[in-house]
Amino acid sequence: MDLQLKGKTAFISGSTQGIGFAIATQLLREGAIVTINGRSQERIDEAITKLKGLVHGAVVTGIAADFSKAEDVAKLIHQLPDVDILINNAGIFEPKAFADITDEDWLRFYEVNVLSGVRLARHYFPKMLEKNWGRIIFISSESAIHIPEEMIHYGMTKTAQLSISRGLAELTKKTGVTVNSVLPGPTRSEGVEEFIKQLAVSQGVTTEQAEADFFKTARPTSLIQRFATVGEIANLVTYVASPLSAATNGAALRADGGLVKTIV
Ligand code: NAD
Repeated sequence: MDLQLKGKTAFISGSTQGIGFAIATQLLREGAIVTINGRSQERIDEAITKLKGLVHGAVVTGIAADFSKAEDVAKLIHQLPDVDILINNAGIFEPKAFADITDEDWLRFYEVNVLSGVRLARHYFPKMLEKNWGRIIFISSESAIHIPEEMIHYGMTKTAQLSISRGLAELTKKTGVTVNSVLPGPTRSEGVEEFIKQLAVSQGVTTEQAEADFFKTARPTSLIQRFATVGEIANLVTYVASPLSAATNGAALRADGGLVKTIV
């Protein structure tokens, strides 16, 4: 299937590793022109070298920006004034008991996971409407629906993304712009490997045990009973980014391994 992404420009926040890196790989394979992002130029350069090795002829550049800093986002927008496809992927997560989550934690999670996408969409969305084509995709999570008891602050940010995504979609009526969210379930990214290690420490068990217990106790409704691969998430995102997905707008699309027990 030709996803008609050749020559489209895309920006993916937080894409030097994990799900974001996998999305960059797939979009490049489809011939899109991709700008990746991370916090340091060194990590970006490493990722670009890797991407060029994975995809022959990849047209990929990178911009360093930390989404916990408004001034970095302003600089990024100045450097990259226009994109066809915006993927709001940058996100942080960590297990923490509710009573230990400080005001600073709440604000940091809100800024990196929610405001990052808001700040970027505030700039790119009106431009997409103007040219009558564009795609904005929020990488939310099944945690938007199943608020994880081990990180309520994270769940809050993922639900907020759904609200913003649907709200923006309401403003796209009769245009070629779509705004959707993709909700991955547990996915084996570098960040999740770190998360499992932290979980193991907090539970006083080995990493292997924490991983084995995770689907039994924390995510028992998962139908696949394993972590998804980052590529499996990127496949759905790449389709939603494509002109072929024009009839999908304002949707919250699950790639959660069937974890959320709902029919629709
Ligand atoms: P990851 O930790 O492997 O990668 C996250 C990326 O975001 C990294 O490239 C990191 O450098 C970047 N990032 C973090 N903070 C940043 C900041 N302040 N500024 C700029 N970049 C920053 O994580 P992942 O698992 O690939 O997660 C990607 C997205 O998918 C996140 O939004 C996450 O909430 C979501 N998600 C992940 C899972 C999962 O199980 N892996 C499940 C559901 C949703």
